[in-house]
Amino acid sequence: MSIKRFQVSGKFSDVSNSLQASDVLDYLPVAVYACDNLGYITDYNKSAATLWGREPEIGKDLWCGSSKILNNDNEPIAPDECPMARSLKEGVCIEGEPIIIERQDGTRINVLSYPVPRFDLSGTLIGGINTLIDITGQVKMDQKQAMLAAIVDTSDDAIISKTLQGIITSWNKAAERMFGYTEAETLGKHISIIIPANRIAEEETIINNIAKGNAIIHFETYRLTKYGKEIPISLSVSAIRDQDGRITGASKIARDLTDVYAADEKKAVLSAIVDTSDDAIINKNMQGIVTSWNKSAEKTFGYSQDEAVGKHISLIIPQDRLSEEEIIIQNISAGNRIDHFETIRIKKDGDTVPILLSVSPIKDKSGNVIGASKIARDISERKIAGAKQAMLAAIVDTSDDAIISKTLQGIVTSWNKAAEKTFGYTENEVIGKHISFLIPKDRLQEEEIIIRNVANGIRVDHFETVRLTKSGQPIPISLSVSPIKDDKGIVIGASKIARDISALKTALLKTQRYAEHLEVINSLSRTISEDLDMEVILQKITDITTQLTGAQFGAFIYTDRKLSTGEVYTLCTSSGASKQEFEQFNFIANSWLFNFAFTSNAIIRIDDINKVSLASKGLPRGHPPVASYLGVPLTESSANIIAGLFFVHAEAGMFTREHEVILQAISLQAVIALQNARLYKEVVNLNLKKDEFIGMASHELRTPLTSISGYLQILDRLETNEKSKRFVSKTVRQVRKLSSLVSDLLDVSKIEAGKLELNKRHFNIKRIVEEAIELIQDAQISHEINFKSNVDILNITADPQRIEQVIINLLTNAIKYSPAGKKVDVVLEDLGSEVKIGVKDSGIGIKPDKQKNIFNRFYRVEDLNPSMAGLGIGLYICKEITERHGGKLWVDSAYGAGSTFWFSLPVK
Ligand code: ADP
Repeated sequence: MSIKRFQVSGKFSDVSNSLQASDVLDYLPVAVYACDNLGYITDYNKSAATLWGREPEIGKDLWCGSSKILNNDNEPIAPDECPMARSLKEGVCIEGEPIIIERQDGTRINVLSYPVPRFDLSGTLIGGINTLIDITGQVKMDQKQAMLAAIVDTSDDAIISKTLQGIITSWNKAAERMFGYTEAETLGKHISIIIPANRIAEEETIINNIAKGNAIIHFETYRLTKYGKEIPISLSVSAIRDQDGRITGASKIARDLTDVYAADEKKAVLSAIVDTSDDAIINKNMQGIVTSWNKSAEKTFGYSQDEAVGKHISLIIPQDRLSEEEIIIQNISAGNRIDHFETIRIKKDGDTVPILLSVSPIKDKSGNVIGASKIARDISERKIAGAKQAMLAAIVDTSDDAIISKTLQGIVTSWNKAAEKTFGYTENEVIGKHISFLIPKDRLQEEEIIIRNVANGIRVDHFETVRLTKSGQPIPISLSVSPIKDDKGIVIGASKIARDISALKTALLKTQRYAEHLEVINSLSRTISEDLDMEVILQKITDITTQLTGAQFGAFIYTDRKLSTGEVYTLCTSSGASKQEFEQFNFIANSWLFNFAFTSNAIIRIDDINKVSLASKGLPRGHPPVASYLGVPLTESSANIIAGLFFVHAEAGMFTREHEVILQAISLQAVIALQNARLYKEVVNLNLKKDEFIGMASHELRTPLTSISGYLQILDRLETNEKSKRFVSKTVRQVRKLSSLVSDLLDVSKIEAGKLELNKRHFNIKRIVEEAIELIQDAQISHEINFKSNVDILNITADPQRIEQVIINLLTNAIKYSPAGKKVDVVLEDLGSEVKIGVKDSGIGIKPDKQKNIFNRFYRVEDLNPSMAGLGIGLYICKEITERHGGKLWVDSAYGAGSTFWFSLPVK
């Protein structure tokens, strides 16, 4: 507002002198007052006093009836700066300066100030008149309008005005945002630009209603944006009237419902979830009053929604648990959730129900907690399952087998007490770790195979393997692995049962070792009982027992008496050290180790001889270190210790009770074997003596026999008496028999002494056979001897006398052992490289089990007829002769049906 300044001529007194005018002023609805030339108020009307809110003091108040004046910007103006003061000082009129007058009660009045200075005729300032026009109402109106405009502009709702013809007359910012059109784009356009084609009719209805003066409130419809998108809106339409109250248009407020709809949808989904949830979902306010109660809550607690909503939640809380609710409310008030809190609630029928409670605070938009939402899960079934689980857990915990579960990735998820004991790790140490810490490096691939199987739902049963304990010790285990499935049957992990089979393995090993030992003992007893050589037996026993005990050194000392001289001698074998080494230490003579085993009647086992007093005697110089000691005396039935077995090891504690048991068994066998060997030796010795005697006797017999034969021949020639001649010839035959026996015996001793000589020649074997047959046939007429040969002349190189001896022997036997038989067949077969001669009888035959014995020295088949006399050496000599020639002698015989003796000789 501009202030006009102008000079006024004339005098104020001209006016003031008129009373009437003063009266008029008093009733003027406009505030007017007058000041003198110094500014003191001299006059004022009623309106002025009303405006100021006080009666000014005439001649005392300066410039204005109010001491507090502010400019339009609400800044205080000093009193002598007020429009009246300035008008008087400067002698100018001020036309309508807007100021604010503050009354004593604090109310403010917007006024326009019009001060006019007054001069006397001489032009001297005599005072001034100021008119104050109250414009408070208008200012407020302006402010209101500005505010409304601002509201319209800042509103989130689209606000549009239009004429009754539908022409848009205003379009706010929110309308721009909502529909995409700018104000400029829409002003003057028809509203139908934002109405979907199928809703054009709506507009008519709206306009009709508005025209009739009806407002439309929250009409939900759809409108089109500039981009053709239909958006849900809530429409409120009111009439716009002109000053005369005539309806000239309509103002529309449109609210975008997109978010609301979305929220509604969300709400619907949420409420569906709440309704279909298996968990009881209950909302309550901070006073504990139930505000919602879903279907599951009805099922769980037995109260219907109607019965529960509006009631206090203590409806379902047992008396002794009411304090829980307080704690819950306290937590919720502090904005805290309560998760998975296990408690008990009461059902409508009074039964209790175990539940798992989760409570979350419900907050309003500004975040204030206004209630609580409770989710209660009925865990009755889980409780039962829980009891079952507890039982299973107890079983797992008390199991002697290690039970471990793990994920398919091999991460350990459970570890029972037995697993702790078996492997040495505590549960805490292994949960979350990969199972591979248990598996030896070279068996890691096993785990892969196991997991692969388990992932395919296949159990692994009693798989024997090795795992590592915490201390790195490998232990044998038997493993069973089964898949762990979730409630949908999907394999999510594996459960392993591992049985420590160390004890089993040890037992098995022990049994195995025992069996092996038995086997060794058996084979040992077989070999040692078959062998009759003392030293061989001793060496075998020493070697095997040293090996069995794991000794570093073993020795066997055997004392015996020589048969011939009776002198005591010692046989000694060792194992683990060479004989030289053994003797070098002068072991036997010097070592007390042997002596005390010889003086004891029981096995002596010492884990560390260095720790026993005996050790004070010390070991011979240069003796290897000895700690473990095992001494086994070998005792004859007479309790006479005949031998000792000794074992030593440089390390202590190498021998066990088990070794003792084995050695005990072996020592018994050894004693028997040694006794046998000794007996055998005695037999051999006796045999030797016998042979010596036979050799000697036959030799001594031969000389007189030769003399007797000579004298008999002379006697035969000289004797003429027929009877005497017969006696002589009989005697000659008997002497010949005797000579033959003696010569056989001599042969035997020659064979035994290896002194049987052969005088080989080239001769016709057939001729020798014929001669032998002739000789026997002459003497024996009881049997007819037939000869068959496939050759006439077959020359061989051999001792003809010895070969003839063989044939004569076989022919004599054939006749002797076939007393009932009448003939003997002899065959000669030239087989090219050899000649085969057979002597066949049809006599008593020989049983199969005797056949191989008949070639032994002095062997005769038992129970022979006494007429079948003999010494049992004929076949022995024949066999020796044929074999010395590189040939063979054998028999084909059937008991009771005769025998054929064959011999073959090489043809050279
Ligand atoms: P001896 O005839 O003097 O007893 P041998 O060494 O010639 O001694 O024979 C050994 C044994 O073989 C005889 O005792 C006899 O039992 C058996 N024997 C030998 N020849 C025959 C045979 N031809 N038929 C049956 N048994 C025989």
